[in-house]
Amino acid sequence: MTNADIARRFEEFAAILEILGANKFKVIAFQKVARTLDGMADEAADLAKTKGALEAIDGIGASSAEKIRELVTTGKIAELDELRAKVPAGLLDLLGVSGLGPKTIKLLWEEGGVVDRASLKAKLATGELSSLPRMGEKTLKNIAESLALSEQSAGRIRLGEAMPIAEFVVAHMERVPGVERVAYAGSLRRGKETIGDIDVLCAAKDPQAAHAAFRALPDIAKVLVSGETKTSVVTNRGVQIDLRTLPLASFGAALMYFTGSKEHNVKLRERAIAMGCRLNEYGLFPDDGENAPQHRGVKPIAAATEEDVFRALKLAWVPPELREDRGEIPAAEKSALPPLVQLADLKADLHAHTRASDGVMTIEELVAAARAKGFHTIAVTDHSKASVQANGLSVERLREHVCAIRAVAASTKDMNVLAGSEVDILSDGRLDYDDETLALLDLVVASPHIALKQSPADATARLVRAIEHPKVRILGHPTGRIINGRPGLEPDMKEVIRAAKANDVALEINANPLRLDLRDTHVKAAVDAGCLIAIDCDAHSREHFEFAIYGILTGRRGWLTKEQCVNCWSQERLAAWIGRK
Ligand SMILES: [Zn+2]
Ligand SMILES: [Zn+2]
Repeated sequence: MTNADIARRFEEFAAILEILGANKFKVIAFQKVARTLDGMADEAADLAKTKGALEAIDGIGASSAEKIRELVTTGKIAELDELRAKVPAGLLDLLGVSGLGPKTIKLLWEEGGVVDRASLKAKLATGELSSLPRMGEKTLKNIAESLALSEQSAGRIRLGEAMPIAEFVVAHMERVPGVERVAYAGSLRRGKETIGDIDVLCAAKDPQAAHAAFRALPDIAKVLVSGETKTSVVTNRGVQIDLRTLPLASFGAALMYFTGSKEHNVKLRERAIAMGCRLNEYGLFPDDGENAPQHRGVKPIAAATEEDVFRALKLAWVPPELREDRGEIPAAEKSALPPLVQLADLKADLHAHTRASDGVMTIEELVAAARAKGFHTIAVTDHSKASVQANGLSVERLREHVCAIRAVAASTKDMNVLAGSEVDILSDGRLDYDDETLALLDLVVASPHIALKQSPADATARLVRAIEHPKVRILGHPTGRIINGRPGLEPDMKEVIRAAKANDVALEINANPLRLDLRDTHVKAAVDAGCLIAIDCDAHSREHFEFAIYGILTGRRGWLTKEQCVNCWSQERLAAWIGRK
């Protein structure tokens, strides 16, 4: 059981207690346990074995430690099960809808009779909820919109949820005797921000043993399909995973076929036809005018590896993230594909939080985490005063924090530690600190957090004004969208990109898988315009540095090279750029 698994239980505890209107301090205590678990380097499940080890952790009290031990040894927490029985199960599902916090849900339940999604929808339609306190027309409209958005995205899970599952499945299948090759394919391999089903391909000497091992994965709720070459399962959390077995000799062709995208594959098939060939998931075959060459003993021209097939099509191998029919095939034809940014290229993170605002790390812990990643630069950028919910810093607290950061920076010889701030962009584009205060900082990341529903014209003017501020170097999560959560700002991105380029400001790809903001298509537009990009983890805990891969995948989908990504530059070049504006 991972720390994240345990943390989820405590989040649920806090949510149910809040819906039930329990003591606020108890709610806060459980939320704190969840955050502490998320930020811990040690596994709580291991610590549970040593007497007193959990209690010794700042943020975990004796009764919470007891609950963790109960969960680790029995797989459940009796008190949580009792609590679950007190609220309709459908209410907890509503917690996933953006804008619906426990307090609102409590009100809708107790006074409006809402018990689940369906009853909320029905009551929104009749307008009967408008008689409740605090439920003005605008609030109800927002709830209806969030509900519709969360249903639109139903069935598609975020990249950050799908990737760990797929990696777990691949590792599990690799240990099965006789398995020769395993890989995940589909939109996950292309790094898309949301994924439908997870597709896993497997070449095995004994395919039936591979399918049996797949069905024996932990956390499987249901087996949907159990065939000779394909097994489909659904996990307890509702994620569908398909396993296909196929011959090793055609693994490359199958990997191409199942990686897609559909549009990219259509172009490749047309190209094969123009060359007098036929391309399918079994290989590239000479076209003899008849169907299904693979079943008639026709020898493929290429099939074993993707590189073989692309080469036979007279193309350079195309990285999966580019396979969207956005010009990658003509570029591959001329061997003109860009050298895409890679995880190992990242040498700096310029957006991170500490305990001073809403993070869980001290400045020293943040520096240590960045060092462990091999970075030469880390920027401490806690929230500004307008972000009250995130414990944003008053001018006075910021001054103290800058001193504390500089003290750590002075004693850190191997890394550049920058005193920065993630400064709120107010709704009219002004920054949340005055210029005198901003002058104290090494780096300003300006981000929108509030007023995310303003008109596109207002949003454009707001972001451009922030970009033009002489202290701003990075525009953080430019739209504020949450994937499967809220749409965020919809500015004229061309204008934003133009302003960023003109003012030498980097647009951020926030690597948090909830955000991935800039999104891939905006990155492509920015890259084409010659705009600089920053990839930052927005780390609030040590674990969040693992988000980097999602930022990298999004950057690659936008054709980003390390030359255009400031986090990949040398320490000297980055420092010069930050100090220059
Ligand atoms: Zn932010
Ligand atoms: Zn942040």
